[in-house]
Amino acid sequence: MTRYPPLPTDTSDGLLVIISGPSGVGKTTITRGVERAIRGSVFSVSATTRPMTAVDVEGVDYRFVSDDEFDRMVADEAFLEWADVFGKRYGTPRDWVVEQLARGRLVILEIDVEGARQVKAALPEALAIFIMPPSEDVLLERLRSRKREDESQILKRFAEAKHEIQVARSCGAYDVFIVNDELERAIDEAVNTVRDRRAGRRGPIA
Ligand code: 5GP
Repeated sequence: MTRYPPLPTDTSDGLLVIISGPSGVGKTTITRGVERAIRGSVFSVSATTRPMTAVDVEGVDYRFVSDDEFDRMVADEAFLEWADVFGKRYGTPRDWVVEQLARGRLVILEIDVEGARQVKAALPEALAIFIMPPSEDVLLERLRSRKREDESQILKRFAEAKHEIQVARSCGAYDVFIVNDELERAIDEAVNTVRDRRAGRRGPIA
């Protein structure tokens, strides 16, 4: 078995944190907020077959791979989980995550509900957080204000988002639901949830 030498920022309590939520809910900003606030936390860069957009940075947001490469990675069991999201595939790199956890890092996965279900089935200790919009009206408004898609695509995303929220509520994979009514408050709540979980694991302070 591979042994991973500790790094100066390592702690003894590795923790896997899953952050999910419908598109337009602000989960990427919240995820990056948690990563910044918690020392020694690392963001897992997924592989995806979706095309790179102008705002994406290769190796930072995703590893952009071809369909063939993704097939090979699936065959090699390179993924901790993978899922088809809006017709494109996304997967979490297994070895990298295992290595970071062995080093005691807090590893953050920003993945969809299907991926979260797979990870929680394999690792029930993972902390799964679902980010909710304050209301359906606000979500629709946020999707429109991004000006990324035309109205028919926006309505499709909106229907998908409502379905995703329903599945997240009923599937039992999520430990915590956080409403993104105000960004800074939602980030604080996510950070505190993660800190509480880590503190709880260490046991009561004498
Ligand atoms: P986007 O293409 O907008 O960046 O992401 C689309 C969806 O794919 C989001 O819900 C995001 O959380 C999800 N996603 C990103 N990476 C992964 C992954 O590795 N696994 C799974 N299951 N979902 C992912």
